[in-house]
Amino acid sequence: MSARRFAGTLIVVLLSATSWAGTRLPTVTHDGRPYVELRRVAASLQTKLDATPASTRAHLRTRDTTVTFTRNWSQVLVNGKPVMLDAPVRVKQGVWLVPESFVGRVVPTLVAGAPAGAPPARTVAAAVEVTLEDVRVRSYPSFTRIVVETSAAVPHRIESSGPREARVRLLGLGNGAQVQGIHDGLIAEVRLERAGADGLLRVVFEGAAGTIRPTTLADPPRLVLDVARPAEPTTREGREQIGPLKMIVLDAGHGGHDSGATGPTGLMEKDLVLDVTRRVAKLVEAQLGLKVRLTRDADYFVTLRDRTSIANRERADLFVSIHANAHRETATDGVETYFLSSEATDGAARQVAALENGVVQLEQPTGRAAGQVDIVKAILWDLAQSEFQTESSRLAEVVHDSMTQSLRISNRGVKQAGFYVLGGAAMPAILLEIGFVTNPKEERRLKETKYRDEIARAIYAGLVEYKRAWDQRGRAAAEPSPVTRVR
Ligand SMILES: [Zn+2]
Repeated sequence: MSARRFAGTLIVVLLSATSWAGTRLPTVTHDGRPYVELRRVAASLQTKLDATPASTRAHLRTRDTTVTFTRNWSQVLVNGKPVMLDAPVRVKQGVWLVPESFVGRVVPTLVAGAPAGAPPARTVAAAVEVTLEDVRVRSYPSFTRIVVETSAAVPHRIESSGPREARVRLLGLGNGAQVQGIHDGLIAEVRLERAGADGLLRVVFEGAAGTIRPTTLADPPRLVLDVARPAEPTTREGREQIGPLKMIVLDAGHGGHDSGATGPTGLMEKDLVLDVTRRVAKLVEAQLGLKVRLTRDADYFVTLRDRTSIANRERADLFVSIHANAHRETATDGVETYFLSSEATDGAARQVAALENGVVQLEQPTGRAAGQVDIVKAILWDLAQSEFQTESSRLAEVVHDSMTQSLRISNRGVKQAGFYVLGGAAMPAILLEIGFVTNPKEERRLKETKYRDEIARAIYAGLVEYKRAWDQRGRAAAEPSPVTRVR
């Protein structure tokens, strides 16, 4: 979704100069520490700031004080005198950030140093901007999720939920507007408009109105609006919550200019996993009767986000991503299976996720360091996988057991970690690491057609077992239903 920025104005009244320490300038977290945007500090002081995204230094000038900031330095100069902050000044995506401690330690001296002729510091009104960072919309089978990300928490009020549209007032978020066409069968468009000092988010329905369930998330501040589809009348008999499994998306990792891991004799992960994925697809389609969709069927690049978008669009029931592993220690071997969690099982799991997420850097030709931010966002904002976590862990266990039982290979276990590629999936989703290409012995085996076939059969057998259990649960749910049948 497009990231559009605009600024609203929120008036914060500061009762005295000393209340600076308690000033409610919005903070952002960087390297685990709270930071404040330098331009916000300048705006609240109503003073001049010289800073460009590319410059090494920035200057904040009040009537009689100049503060000099140097990027990546913890030391700032106040009229030439060094003052140490508890963390370095940073420039992130062109935005100058100062540690929050700067507001408590240095800003009061700037205010106190105001000339005697200036109005007494009884009431200083400072304008603090609340910035709209992004409005993201994603469609899932039973609901549509609208996420409004802002630089600081914005109170909201649901004003009306009529037959045509729902309105959500975002208090203090003014100026600016945007329209996103959605057309997912539930929502026609999402409009953000100005309404006095506030923002008004209008959710326009295509047909019958959905019901809105709001939640707020912090860090970054987000208002999440889940719009549920109106209950569809039961048209088929015996259709309870568990429908039959119909479609699976198989995702061969990497591709194109992203080779993934490379073995000592040159085996590339992208080639290996494409071959194995195709073999799994053939078996599933021919013998399990499920529809299969591949995120790529040849050697080309697909972004991590697109991989799950394909699955969501196709309303797939399962998402299985197939990868091969790498480790600095070449003796490391074995298979492991992952499902998504923002908390990694352990350091090793976190490293595997970091390695697989690293491709995000290749998605941005400019090579700017925005990847880190995006990864965290993608995992956090959706939280879609949290709804499927139990089912994902079940799928992970069944497929993993099948692999470890039929392949003579070390069992590294079922683990959790923050994989970007799994973050957007609106269905049970797992990621398989079928072996270490960096281990010479494993690499040799992974090159053999016969062994690849064995892996594919093991994955397939796991899916067969999963489907069997799924169907059984479906029957159990449907059987004792004295529900009135509707034709
Ligand atoms: Zn990989």
